[in-house]
Amino acid sequence: MSKASDTEEEFFARQEAERLRKLSFEQQRAVEVGERERLRALHHMCCPKCGLSLQTLRFKDVEVDRCFACQGTWLDEGELERLAGKEAGFLHRVVGLFGSPEKP
Ligand SMILES: [Zn+2]
Repeated sequence: MSKASDTEEEFFARQEAERLRKLSFEQQRAVEVGERERLRALHHMCCPKCGLSLQTLRFKDVEVDRCFACQGTWLDEGELERLAGKEAGFLHRVVGLFGSPEKP
């Protein structure tokens, strides 16, 4: 085999390897996206602490996700900032509003 045909064969082998590498990357990406969607559907509106259902309460135009099983309160990205920007002392008011009744 001549030197020129070796070079040509290597060129096509590299080209095919690159095509297959890109195909593999796209397949991995599709699995990752599918897995993220599956996990999101499985855990959506479930308490990250105890796994039971979250309930949505509206406070100051912000939707607050509350778990009445473990008393956890969850905010989506940016919601804490939105609440904090409105007035001072908001945390005390939120906890007082959604917290458990005080024991006598
Ligand atoms: Zn919980």
